[in-house]
Amino acid sequence: MTNHTNDAPPREILLLKLGEVVLKGLNRSVFEDKLLANVSRHIRPFGRFQIYTRQSTIYVEALEERCDVDGACAACQQVFGIAAVVRALPCEKTVEAIVETARTYLAEEFAAARTFKVESKRADKRYPMNSIQLSQAVGGELADAFPDVAVDVHNPDLTVCVEIREKAAYVHGPSLEGAGGLPVGTGGKAISLLSGGIDSPVSSWMMARRGVWLEMVHFESPPYTSQQAQDKVLELAKQLVPWCGQLVVHIVPFTEIQEEIRRSCPEMYFTLIMRRFMMRLSAAVAKRVKAGALVTGESLGQVASQTMLSLGVTEAVTDLPVLRPLIGMDKVEIIRLSRRIGTYETSILPYEDCCTVFTPRHPCTRPVLAEVEAAEAALDVEALVAKALSGVKQVRIKADGTMTVRTPAGTNE
Ligand code: ATP
Ligand code: MG
Repeated sequence: MTNHTNDAPPREILLLKLGEVVLKGLNRSVFEDKLLANVSRHIRPFGRFQIYTRQSTIYVEALEERCDVDGACAACQQVFGIAAVVRALPCEKTVEAIVETARTYLAEEFAAARTFKVESKRADKRYPMNSIQLSQAVGGELADAFPDVAVDVHNPDLTVCVEIREKAAYVHGPSLEGAGGLPVGTGGKAISLLSGGIDSPVSSWMMARRGVWLEMVHFESPPYTSQQAQDKVLELAKQLVPWCGQLVVHIVPFTEIQEEIRRSCPEMYFTLIMRRFMMRLSAAVAKRVKAGALVTGESLGQVASQTMLSLGVTEAVTDLPVLRPLIGMDKVEIIRLSRRIGTYETSILPYEDCCTVFTPRHPCTRPVLAEVEAAEAALDVEALVAKALSGVKQVRIKADGTMTVRTPAGTNE
């Protein structure tokens, strides 16, 4: 046996299969290094592990008995850049040891299966048997050990995988779904507009999955929006942290802007003009933190402010790319994803968002930019933006979920 020289039973290890990272060319090592660092950060709370890469697989080996492998496994399933997570048991590279390991380690899987097959892979090309010979030898013995489970090489209930690698053989059953995508931090930085709804946590997650490092902006309009609405948004951000890494939420005071719009602009443009302010303020925050794009949860045609013309009028105030990963998705698809991410139950809590505070009865769905600009001319846009920016509060949510607050005056709460 390899690293288990004494009588201690071998410890289960995690094999993380790389996703799209393997398609990278010259800069692949940049992606792999980032991924290793992200994995390491995600599993830190679960004990001391050794982490290393071999042949497009990241190995995660517990270094001490009290490591929480279940916890580490679940955490690895939330690391973008990993296509699949496999729990495996190492053993000696002999048929005998492999059969014995499969028999005991996968006993539950065998009990639930009617048919099985063995699939072998050899990363160690000096191994004396080829994959087919090894699968046949191991499969034959397992068929004897489990007479009620028949061999079916075409459509088995259970596939027993044997990987012959440098140090050891690894035996495992089915792999678990990984988060996919690219490692966070490889795709630049963006500001994501996070409301309390269903959509924006999903759009944030989708961009983080493409490797984007996010900071959040949230607009609040007290007393029209409540403290509970703000808590809900922070809770959503907290639920995104295991996927995105630590997050800063910039909370922007929006009451005065909304009241000014209501006082001075035609009702049918309320939402559009408000959304243009959201873009301006988000772009200003992006500039402060050197982010290169904005992200929203807009989906074409979902509401009046998300028609093609409305989106055009909204984004006309910024030069930054506005990324809208939900643009072509149906609500049911968005809801399905939000359940998978884990934000759905929080999103449907019934607190007011500032968007729903002053909604026009007949919003314009076919706006003309020049007309919206003319309507906006009644406002001192620059002064309103500057004032709101001076009142931004920052909430930092760390990987362990703890929060620190920085008030506009620069003091910590
Ligand atoms: P819902 O799931 O109810 O549609 P939503 O978050 O998508 O929620 P919309 O009114 O559709 O709400 O707003 C479109 C987008 O604008 C949001 O996805 C979000 O990116 C941004 N947005 C809306 N309200 C806010 C807010 N209060 N703070 C920050 N961003 C917001
Ligand atoms: Mg929406």
